Amino acid sequence: MKIVTVVGARPQFIKAAAGSRQLRKEHQEILVHTGQHFDDNMSAVFFREMGIPTPDYNLGVSGGSHGQMTARMLTGIEEILQKEQPDALLVYGDTNSTLAAALAAAKLRIPVLHVEAGNRLGTLDNPEEINRKLTDHCSTLLFCATEDARQKLEAEGLGSRTHCVGNIMYDSFLYFANKPWENPNILGLDGSPVTLPDSWYYMTCHRQENTYSDEPLAAILAAMNQLDAKTIYPVHPRNRERAERICKAQGFDNILLTQPVGYSDSVHLTQNAKKIVTDSGGLQCEAFYAGVQCVFVLDYVVWPETMVSGRNQLAKADTEDILSKLAKEQRIDPAYQPFGDGHAAEKICDVIRQWRG
Ligand code: UDP
Repeated sequence: MKIVTVVGARPQFIKAAAGSRQLRKEHQEILVHTGQHFDDNMSAVFFREMGIPTPDYNLGVSGGSHGQMTARMLTGIEEILQKEQPDALLVYGDTNSTLAAALAAAKLRIPVLHVEAGNRLGTLDNPEEINRKLTDHCSTLLFCATEDARQKLEAEGLGSRTHCVGNIMYDSFLYFANKPWENPNILGLDGSPVTLPDSWYYMTCHRQENTYSDEPLAAILAAMNQLDAKTIYPVHPRNRERAERICKAQGFDNILLTQPVGYSDSVHLTQNAKKIVTDSGGLQCEAFYAGVQCVFVLDYVVWPETMVSGRNQLAKADTEDILSKLAKEQRIDPAYQPFGDGHAAEKICDVIRQWRG
């Protein structure tokens, strides 16, 4: 089969690393990068480090409102699909790139294969919820990561198209988690190499809900600054200026602001962290895989499977709430493995093969 895969943002590169490796064993894959994330440390580093094939097309679309971005991507992807005439389109996750590609393909009657289907926060206030719901409903094959996602798709009438394959991010995580941590390349905001402390907390925070103004981010940073070890915080370009300004103004010198790091570094920063504070869907899962306790700063549960035995707790963007959640202990039951076995990409290819007969 000829399959067009569309990626555009960091978490999609990480998923595509596992997906493309497997897909290309049996199919011709045309890789399209929408350009949503474009900085070297948000995009190219993942292609280099994770062996992701060079994109066949790069649309160079980034910035602008959600509507402008999605529309420009949709137009560009439609042209590529008309030219390439693929048998299917494959997309990951819930970004504007995901939705634009799914819409373009569905209108051209090209089957859409959606990896990481069925995640629901239960509110359309979250911009990604709109992307994931609409994408699911125009997809032919829905690959979900967990039993909970499968049930949600069934409740929306999509059960017959759904296949529970495990979390494809787990495939990528295991690949790096089992390798030694060679040549960490962690750079400060000024570009100089960062010397890692003996122990640290790992934090990421970039969601609109926490970074639309100073207040929520400042409350989160105030909590991290009070901890018994430094916090390493690779800052997303979207809120770099805000984070830097707040830390400077408040004298938060227990926080090490860095540039975004590559995936190997992120995995190892996770595995070796005391605890993790994040608003990232992907990082909270990786904390869970690594057995490191996580506090998730958002009003909604993204991965309910992680919210057990204190392993991942919701917190408000409130200093005291975050500190009190961080003070709790977790319990780990090694038999509890809700995200599959780390072979999601193989299972996705098995389903595609059966689907084509
Ligand atoms: N990540 C990374 N470098 C960083 C910060 C995060 O490689 O500097 C990884 C992290 O390990 C996780 C993914 O990026 O796998 C999460 O991406 P992001 O937070 O952009 O998206 P989300 O998870 O919210 O969809």
